[in-house]
Amino acid sequence: MFTSITVCLDMFGCPNRCKHCWIGHSPNGNLTSDDLKFVAEKFRPFTNCLTVYDWYREPDYKDNYEELWDLCNSLSDTHREHFELISFWRIVRDEKYVKWLSSLELKKAQITLFGGQEKTDYYTGRKNAYNEIVEAMEILVENKISPRIQVFVNKDTVDELPLIENLIQRLNLENRCKAFGGEFSMFLHSGSCDGENEKLYDIRVTPEDLSKIPPTLIQYTLKYFQKASIEEVFGKTEQTLYEELIKDHSTASYVSKDPVFYVDQEFNVYPNVTSPAPSWLLGNLRTDKIETILENYTESKSAAQHTRLTVPLCNIVVSQGDCKSQRLFSKGDYIDYLLNTYCRK
Ligand code: SF4
Repeated sequence: MFTSITVCLDMFGCPNRCKHCWIGHSPNGNLTSDDLKFVAEKFRPFTNCLTVYDWYREPDYKDNYEELWDLCNSLSDTHREHFELISFWRIVRDEKYVKWLSSLELKKAQITLFGGQEKTDYYTGRKNAYNEIVEAMEILVENKISPRIQVFVNKDTVDELPLIENLIQRLNLENRCKAFGGEFSMFLHSGSCDGENEKLYDIRVTPEDLSKIPPTLIQYTLKYFQKASIEEVFGKTEQTLYEELIKDHSTASYVSKDPVFYVDQEFNVYPNVTSPAPSWLLGNLRTDKIETILENYTESKSAAQHTRLTVPLCNIVVSQGDCKSQRLFSKGDYIDYLLNTYCRK
């Protein structure tokens, strides 16, 4: 038995194709409520605390989002709050949506920008995304939900940060949120280096890029992450991490008593560690027994889990790392990046 299990089924996918998407791109599905019940029933015997979600890409993407919310609650043992993640695609197309979010007492909602209009449309993978995001922030503020802006920074977007600073000032987000008792927040980071974001490895920020960040955006970011310096947020150079990790003979297990599983539209099951890629596959709910899938998880039989459990980090970094690279990473993101590339070699 697990202390808890969270299972997320990718029922409908996502309207966007973000270039930083750590989950990776795949065709959108169109699964049914019965499919969700089927998935919940499979995991139900293995915990007394099951939580079920109908998405792991875009929340509330399907028109019957209210019905699906109720269904997820009825299949779950936990009383859930709505994530501070919303569908900006829906909020500009469906007047009822923001009222529904308010009825769930959502106080903050995260929105992602990459710079000005052209860069944001390009990196979101959809024309007019920027205009919709700006409109979404207006709708949120009008409905007393504080926007939280997330910005992914790379060498191609770092020069656009003043445009985001101007936008925050132009929309007067800080004062308008304060006026209804909310709090505007924002943060910058470079994101992980898995899924689609791995393709942006070449343009990850290096130390000299950090001096281009406007001070106001640094202040917001330090407050959000509770860090003392922007270097702590963006991490260490790959060279520094390489030098640390070549002395590190440790291995690690990803097995938890409270696992989160991602189930894709084909019913393939993955642990929620990094992008749901073939090397993390645990099995398929339609063709494999759930007992086998869970055993593959607990005994680290997926190729990636097995590798991390049996191959010392020093060997993985020597095989896949770049000892001269100045690209910045958090240690955890760097290990995930190395492991994913090692498993594909
Ligand atoms: S990052 Fe989120 S919004 Fe963007 S494509 Fe991936 S799942 Fe969709």
